[in-house]
Amino acid sequence: KAKSEGRNRTSFFSDELEQHIIHRHQLELLLRDTLSNNQLQVYYQPKLCLETGRLLGAEALARMQDHQGQWVSPSEFIPLAEETGLITELGRQVLRQACQECLGWQRLGYHVPVSVNIAAAQFADPLLVKQITDLLTELQLPAQLLELEVTESALMLDVSKTQSMLSQLKAAGTCIAIDDFGTGYSSLSYLKKFQVDVLKIDKSFVQEMLIDRGDMEIVKAVISLAQSMHLQLIAEGIEIEAQKDMLIQLGCSVGQGYLFSKPLSKEDFKAYLQQRATV
Ligand code: C2E
Ligand code: MG
Ligand code: MG
Ligand code: MG
Repeated sequence: KAKSEGRNRTSFFSDELEQHIIHRHQLELLLRDTLSNNQLQVYYQPKLCLETGRLLGAEALARMQDHQGQWVSPSEFIPLAEETGLITELGRQVLRQACQECLGWQRLGYHVPVSVNIAAAQFADPLLVKQITDLLTELQLPAQLLELEVTESALMLDVSKTQSMLSQLKAAGTCIAIDDFGTGYSSLSYLKKFQVDVLKIDKSFVQEMLIDRGDMEIVKAVISLAQSMHLQLIAEGIEIEAQKDMLIQLGCSVGQGYLFSKPLSKEDFKAYLQQRATV
């Protein structure tokens, strides 16, 4: 530590920065361990028809615990995985687990599509399409049951590559959603060229729309954009009835959020499916 080594010695690192580096390093080791021991977990959040409550799908979300059993936030380990290149392996594991789970739901008689988040680095990987088609073939899972969520910013990194990737994925039969829509900087002219199926309204807009006029206007604009381009819509982060009611009124009839359910472990999601079926 710089301080204990005496006042005459200058250090490049402040204690705070040093702590940060140590923490980051430990987190990276944990992530490596988790991935190599196949201990990454996947949780599933229901997507519902806001009007009827019908279950329309589930989003797969990565979950990781530390050695003490504490949950590490995805907002911490996902960016780290992206920076260290571990995201490719993380993404591969989530994709496999999610498709296996979806197949399991099918076998129980529930035809519920699963959505998987695809990071920018995965989306830029020319092998992604083969990875997906191989997996679908191996599991005998119909491609229409897999939806890929790609963020707006990932799509905009290299628009010509994006176009080719999207057409290959479409040809493979998967459904594609633009995640966090409205937070990036996509130009509308590209949106027209991209073969996507769904726009996901980012939760930041949903959560602020009843208290911030600007956010309300963004939600309205995204809804009318989706309608005029014949894209499906889903709103994320719905926490209260009033948000749900407003979204329905504005013309968005699909959503997910804590109001309906938090992301559930695979066991809890199965129980959720079975419980719903009997009510
Ligand atoms: P996202 O894909 O936009 O996922 C939605 C996030 O909103 C999830 O956070 C979900 O738990 C949270 N959420 C859902 N409903 C509500 C609500 O009503 N209120 C609030 N406050 N939050 C809600 P989570 O699971 O922490 O994931 C955060 C982000 O991490 C995801 O945002 C996604 O970008 C990334 N991520 C998670 N799993 C994966 C993965 O397997 N691969 C990749 N590439 N990214 C992932
Ligand atoms: Mg997502
Ligand atoms: Mg999102
Ligand atoms: Mg988000």
